[in-house]
Amino acid sequence: MTVYAKKDQIYEGKAKKLFSTEDPDKTIIEYKDSFTAFNGEKRAEMSGKGRLNNLISSEIFAYLSGRGVPLHFIEKLDDLRQLAVKVNILPLEVVVRNITTGSICKRLGIPEGLKLPRPLIEFYYKDDALGDPLVTEDHALLFGWAADDEIAAIKQITLRVNLLMQELFEPLGIVLVDFKLEFGKDSSGKLLLADEISPDTCRFWDASTGARLDKDRFRKDLGDVLGAYEEIWDRLSGAAGNKGRP
Ligand code: UDP
Repeated sequence: MTVYAKKDQIYEGKAKKLFSTEDPDKTIIEYKDSFTAFNGEKRAEMSGKGRLNNLISSEIFAYLSGRGVPLHFIEKLDDLRQLAVKVNILPLEVVVRNITTGSICKRLGIPEGLKLPRPLIEFYYKDDALGDPLVTEDHALLFGWAADDEIAAIKQITLRVNLLMQELFEPLGIVLVDFKLEFGKDSSGKLLLADEISPDTCRFWDASTGARLDKDRFRKDLGDVLGAYEEIWDRLSGAAGNKGRP
């Protein structure tokens, strides 16, 4: 494995820090122990959260990478850090929903827990000051947040990731309710899936009990937040450990 020295911090977000490396096209992503919700209004620090999200996200990214999804992720470096391709993130959050819950229920008065006949894709404009508003593809196109072919590629990759993630989580007794993806472009302009995929960015429900195994435990004060993240990691890593066995 190449040893990449962490150089200058180039960005600090709510859940991760980015560092430059000696290679201008690569970045080191370090996961933090911070929780935030409701556009940063609710905050907490929980020791061990950064490690769990890095382990879970690295495992999911390695799985997707092995199935041909174009990703910024290169490798997990250690418990807290990943090596990734440096990208410029598009200012869009791409949400996929398989079952209704969260903002769509509040916004449209839709009941919770409806299984949708096919996955619903939504775009949100990434702007904290505006509270990340829901936007249409046409907004993204006309305001230059993504080109026509990029929007088509984003939708195609997003649906594929949804299917692959369902195939990964269903045998683990976990329902993939919804999740959020972010995309970026590398120095050559290639579109890559970026950011993270973790219980911070997905809703995971236990298939038999319906227990919430994701950031809703923090948002809604359900308790044992890290226990839920640990549960996701235990099931994922157990599956990884069983690979190749009959
Ligand atoms: N999500 C996210 N970051 C955001 C907003 C949403 O990762 O800034 C994820 C969230 O965890 C859920 C999905 O996107 O898995 C859909 O979230 P929703 O629109 O229901 O918003 P919320 O109810 O979380 O405000």
